[in-house]
Amino acid sequence: MSNIKTFKYNDKTQLSKNINISELRCKCSKHHETKYDVDHVNKVQDFMNTNGFDKIIISSGYRCPEHDKSKSVGGSGSGQHTKGTAMDCRFYKNGKVIPAKEVCCLAQDFGFKGIGYIDSNYVHLDSRTSGTYRGDERKGRSSNVKDFYTYFNMPKPTPTPTPTPTDSAYKTFVKGVQSTCGAKVDGIAGKETLSKTVTLSTKKNSKHKVVKVLQTYLISLGYSCGKCGADGIFGSGTKSAVKAYQKANGCVVDGVLDAKNKTWKKLLKLA
Ligand SMILES: [Zn+2]
Ligand SMILES: [Zn+2]
Repeated sequence: MSNIKTFKYNDKTQLSKNINISELRCKCSKHHETKYDVDHVNKVQDFMNTNGFDKIIISSGYRCPEHDKSKSVGGSGSGQHTKGTAMDCRFYKNGKVIPAKEVCCLAQDFGFKGIGYIDSNYVHLDSRTSGTYRGDERKGRSSNVKDFYTYFNMPKPTPTPTPTPTDSAYKTFVKGVQSTCGAKVDGIAGKETLSKTVTLSTKKNSKHKVVKVLQTYLISLGYSCGKCGADGIFGSGTKSAVKAYQKANGCVVDGVLDAKNKTWKKLLKLA
């Protein structure tokens, strides 16, 4: 899936918190339009939010086929950059650049389709629509890496165990879900409670009454919902919290609570 949009060369649209379209335009001298996949921008922004990165420097975004084939770039003229689905970049946290080895591993965990190690600071990230690519580009542009953790001899992160919620926080959560979703309110989660759960995401039911209940519970478990706290709005902070919870609990990491699905079951302790 991709969502390619065309922008004028001088367009200065801020596509996400940290990424402006002007940073993605082709670096040839022709000042032509920029074709770019805004879904890829959102994915990179999500990746930054999830990992607490606060700055990105992009050395290459869109490339016209001619520029891609030029000597200085040395591409094929038909790679991911020419499709507007790739970014060569480096990331920062509190003024410090994140080593590319680490970024490659985190990008792998995050589910990027294409990841390339360029040098100690820069990585290539793409959202190709078919296949996957993991490469050490110092050794050419073939997919020559199976697993970045093993390849770079980096320690695999041990999943942070979910802190055991206090009985009262859990009970408050169950009652809150039951009352806001229209189930029988008895503080005991079961099939009926699960059957009333609704899909929650940044796009769906983002202001549903149960959002605040969910946020309060996630925060009590140690998952930050961002600087607004439990504000009742399912925004990017809540999405990051849900993703972190999903990652620690063996669910699909997509930041979405599908109605009656696994993340809900885990939260309600029904799985
Ligand atoms: Zn160009
Ligand atoms: Zn690249």
